[in-house]
Amino acid sequence: MEKIALFPGSFDPFTKGHEDILLRGLKIFDQIIIAIGYNTAKHKRYFDVDTMVAYIEKTYKDKPEISVKIYNELTAEFAKKHNANYLLRGLRNTTDFEYENSIAELNKNQNPELETVFLITTPIYAHISSSIIREVHRYGGDVTDYLPYSIKE
Ligand code: ADP
Repeated sequence: MEKIALFPGSFDPFTKGHEDILLRGLKIFDQIIIAIGYNTAKHKRYFDVDTMVAYIEKTYKDKPEISVKIYNELTAEFAKKHNANYLLRGLRNTTDFEYENSIAELNKNQNPELETVFLITTPIYAHISSSIIREVHRYGGDVTDYLPYSIKE
């Protein structure tokens, strides 16, 4: 049976840190669905969600085992709909651990079949966070080094 994982997150923006987790995840899973959680009414994104989908699709156009989707429902439900029995998440530090620990528990309660698999970030990417990139970009800084694609202004 194919091992399908959902890689859920806000990805605002999708970074080289995310890419590290994604590509290493491909050694474990046959298919990875990058799932961008987006609620039009609630979240105010910095990077447009459809533009982010387009950047990600373009970046991995030669890897059919990677796909990207936007969702607006419980992660566990969305995973079930796509026959994904695994959630892939990255861990940078103990703060991530505390947070991830409770989300993993929550998701397992909603769907006992769902296992969360954590990969520890490769150290050179551990300092990268979407929120810092947004700050740098907001003030006109160059963020190219942190992203696996180049963004048009
Ligand atoms: P969320 O809003 O759910 O925290 P993010 O888009 O910020 O989503 O992150 C998605 C996943 O990627 C999370 O598991 C997060 O810990 C992980 N992640 C974020 N930045 C990095 C990084 N630099 N290296 C490895 N994993 C990361």
